[in-house]
Amino acid sequence: MLKFSYSSYELSPKFSLNSVTKEIPRPGALLKIEWPDGLCGYADLFPWPELGDDILEKHLEGLKKGRISRLLEQSIWLARKDAQLRLEKKSGLSEVRKIKNHYTVADYTKISDIMVAEIKNQGFTTLKIKVGRDPMDEARWIERTIKKSPYLNFRLDFIGNRDFSVFERLMTSLSLSLKPHIEFAEDPVPYDLEAWREASKLCPLAVDFEFDNVKWDVIPLPFRTVILKPARQDVAKVLDLVNKHNLKLAITSSMDHPVGVAHALMVASEIKKVWPGRVVECGCLTHLLYWPNDFSKELVTQGPCLVQMGGTGIGFDALLAKQTWNPIR
Ligand code: MG
Repeated sequence: MLKFSYSSYELSPKFSLNSVTKEIPRPGALLKIEWPDGLCGYADLFPWPELGDDILEKHLEGLKKGRISRLLEQSIWLARKDAQLRLEKKSGLSEVRKIKNHYTVADYTKISDIMVAEIKNQGFTTLKIKVGRDPMDEARWIERTIKKSPYLNFRLDFIGNRDFSVFERLMTSLSLSLKPHIEFAEDPVPYDLEAWREASKLCPLAVDFEFDNVKWDVIPLPFRTVILKPARQDVAKVLDLVNKHNLKLAITSSMDHPVGVAHALMVASEIKKVWPGRVVECGCLTHLLYWPNDFSKELVTQGPCLVQMGGTGIGFDALLAKQTWNPIR
């Protein structure tokens, strides 16, 4: 039997995080998992109820009754990796510098030209923008930003907005000469083969939350890139499909706790080692979207990369040891 304990936390966003969430503290829990073979590892549990997840309490309640949600399944898988490395006294983040990340812009209205210049000077080359609130204004902001910083590329995340015209209006408002700066649009509308084929005529596409709705026997698929969130998806299954269809892979955190950020980076390092050509820029540095806490202070970055962390497994050894752990019985 696995032994679970949890430690609750809240993350305070600096801005509204996307078109469907409000700027309020978000609850999550760190998990400590102990196996009968003596191994002990840590992972994060950070549901997104706005995007269809059960609330945190429901996952923990279920766990008491032996019900393992899909998020918990991933937490257990990640904690086991951490546990194995802790046993061997190895770090899972020794090659993390090789993972380059985009800069996530949750609310572009709060990002001034000076801030964009600063982000660029730090070494970021790609901005990922959460869009879908006001397509015309978003297009204007992107145009202006590209003109001021011509070496930046953009990833636009529509989070499966129900209205095709939102995507269409944004894309058709951008001048043709700036189109090559749009690396991809993510989940432009809910997945539907015809709608995505139409959308792909305006811009290359990437699939994230719509992954489960894809019919994989269709060739060619209407997207080129898959967003992989190890906190939410069966990694082996995604890798299998990505390799089979010759797609690119961007590994991202789930905009979760720094423990989740470290796990996403560890998985990204592992995959990049085996398939270096498959992994494009990742999106793991989402701790920058929240006000700092003790854990995020240990994530030292140099521009788009995390600097190698001390400790074993995913790190944070001393901080994890001093959390208050509530056993789940
Ligand atoms: Mg997304």
